[in-house]
Amino acid sequence: MASKGLCISRLQSGGLITNYYCSSACRHCLYRCSPRWPKAFISAEEAQAALETSRRFGCRSLHIGGGEPLLNPEGVASVLKAAQKAGVHIEYVETNASWYRNHETACRLLERLAAAGLSTLLVSISPFHNEFIPFCKVQGVLAACRAKGISVFPWIAGFTPDLETFDPERPHGLEEYEQTFGADYLPRLTGRYWISPGGRALETFGPYMTQIPLHRLIDQNKTGCAELADTTHFHLDLYGHYVPGLCAGLAIAPQDLGSPLDADAYPLITRLYAGGLGPLLAYVSDTYGFAPSKKHYATKCELCFEVRRFLVIDRGVDSPELRPREHYLLQHA
Ligand code: SF4
Ligand code: SF4
Repeated sequence: MASKGLCISRLQSGGLITNYYCSSACRHCLYRCSPRWPKAFISAEEAQAALETSRRFGCRSLHIGGGEPLLNPEGVASVLKAAQKAGVHIEYVETNASWYRNHETACRLLERLAAAGLSTLLVSISPFHNEFIPFCKVQGVLAACRAKGISVFPWIAGFTPDLETFDPERPHGLEEYEQTFGADYLPRLTGRYWISPGGRALETFGPYMTQIPLHRLIDQNKTGCAELADTTHFHLDLYGHYVPGLCAGLAIAPQDLGSPLDADAYPLITRLYAGGLGPLLAYVSDTYGFAPSKKHYATKCELCFEVRRFLVIDRGVDSPELRPREHYLLQHA
C-alpha cells in the first residue's frame, strides 16, 4: 500500500510525559491536559522503560513535562533518580506553578528535587496559564528558584508585562486580556507564543485562520506528513507510547521503533506519512463511512483530528494508534 515507509531509528531531542492530569486546562494545550484526566503518574519501572527507549535510539537528554508533573513531587524525584541511574540528563522539568503555597514549602520542595538531580525548572508564564493560575504563584516559584539556586527557563518572559497588568492574586480570563489589550489579543498570541497546530489550539485558533478548501488541503499534503518522522521534539509517555512528531493523540509502541512501521498495524500513521490526507480519507471513508463535516479547514491537522475523533467517538474504534483515548474522550475538558 504505502510506497514510503516510516521508520524511526534515531531520536534526537525529546520529553517524558509523566502525567496528563493538570491543574490547568490551557486553551492552547497540545495534549489537551486538564483536571479531568485520570490521576495516573509514571511509575519508576515505566520511567526506566522510557529512558531505556530514549537511550537505545541515541537520545541521552530529555525534559520532563505533563500535565503538571509537580502535582506529584515524589514521583518527579523518583524519575529524576531513575534518569541519573540510566545516564540520561534531564534538561528541565516543566511546571505551571499551581502547586505553590508559600516560600518555605516551595524552597523545601526544590531542595528535595535538587537532591534528586533537578537543575532547571521551565516555568510557564503566559495568559493561557493565567486563566487558571494566579501570577503570584508563578512569582513565588521564581523567587524560590532564586533562593535555592535552581535555574529558570521562563516560558515566556515576554508575557510578564501583560500578566503584571492584572491583580496577581487571582486568575484572569482571556476575555479580560481582550478588554485591556484589544479584541484581537487572542489571534495576536500566535505571533508571540510557539503554538503547535494540535490539541486544544485547533479549536482556539482555527476560527481565526484562513480556511482552505478541502481539495487544496489534500493537494498540498500529497507528499505526506514528514512531521511524523521528526524526532527533534518527540515524546514518550507514562503509558509507554512514543508520540510521533507533535501529533498528539497518535501513538507508536516503542517495540515498533527501529524498523519500518507495519501498514496493517498502523493503517492511519502509515497512510498519513506516505500520502497525507488523500490516502487517509480514502481509507476511513471506505472502511468506516467517514465524510468530512466541512468544505474548508484551517489546517490539515484539524481534518486529521476530525477523522481520528470520529473513529474513537462515533465508531468506537479502539486502536493502539489512537492513544491515549482520553485525548479524544475528554476533548472539551
Ligand atoms: S499547557 Fe501545560 S499547564 Fe497548560 S493545560 Fe497543558 S499541560 Fe497543563
Ligand atoms: S495531519 Fe495529522 S499526522 Fe499530519 S502533521 Fe497534522 S496531526 Fe500529524
